[in-house]
Amino acid sequence: MITDIKGLHHVTSMAGDPNVNNAFFTDTLGLRRVKKTVNFDAPDVYHLYYGDEVGTPGSVMTYFPFPGMPKGARGTGEVGVTEFAVPKGALPYWQERFSAKGMSSQSGSAFGEQRLSFEGPDGDAFALVESEERGREAWTGNGVGTAEGVLGFHGARFALRDAAATGELLEFMGYQKAETEGNVTRYLVEGGNAADTIDLEEAPGAPTARQGGGSVHHIAFAVEDRAAQLRVRQQLMDTGYNVTPVIDRDYFWAIYFRTPGGVLFEIATNEPGFDRDEDTAHLGEALKLPTQHEHLRPKLEELLPEITA
Ligand code: ZN
Repeated sequence: MITDIKGLHHVTSMAGDPNVNNAFFTDTLGLRRVKKTVNFDAPDVYHLYYGDEVGTPGSVMTYFPFPGMPKGARGTGEVGVTEFAVPKGALPYWQERFSAKGMSSQSGSAFGEQRLSFEGPDGDAFALVESEERGREAWTGNGVGTAEGVLGFHGARFALRDAAATGELLEFMGYQKAETEGNVTRYLVEGGNAADTIDLEEAPGAPTARQGGGSVHHIAFAVEDRAAQLRVRQQLMDTGYNVTPVIDRDYFWAIYFRTPGGVLFEIATNEPGFDRDEDTAHLGEALKLPTQHEHLRPKLEELLPEITA
């Protein structure tokens, strides 16, 4: 069994307009933009990263915004809900804040936790879940206070036609099966960061998801360093998974593999982090390009829409 997974690292989704996306995550949710770069595999599209002050693994929501991209449709075979943790007692503040911005939200509870479900600008399915701080602190630079601010991810809920094979994979990855509520089963990894839950929702009759704006592209799990990543890669390959070689993403190292339920998994290193090429005080402000695309800078600066905030 794998013992190196430390919870979530980041979640990457697709969006339409980059300015709408940026405004939502910074102004509405109060996160910090910690990196403005491009999709390393298709550099004519931004890759925007939002998180806590330094983009701590387990707090990082990232987007590929394709201007004009049609919205996807939620369904099975995808990450159904991306869940952020907020401090206990913070949900009334968020409900009020969303309402003031003309957004609707629904309060509820699952596994004994209070949650508020809402949609992002592209129909992204999100929830805020009241949680213990567990050493995490919200970014307050965008006007949301420490008593209410997003602490990082709580976890994610997958929507699957059949949850059995994904459940087995999570257990192989070091997650333990916890409670089941209705058609949702919780898995928890111990000894990691606070973004440590994955809920599997089984919906055999539901339609398959259609990828588009608001769809999660992949979900990344954290490992401490490159040595741990190589161990995990070997263990996955020994079990029959088809895993990519290690890819340098400048701020972390990545490997990817497709899971039985359809969700694309990544394993990403906690090293070297988002402050490797920018001062913490100015994180996410300048357009950063990886070395292999630096020669495209003049063209990309003209092509990519200006992000005004
Ligand atoms: Zn990724």
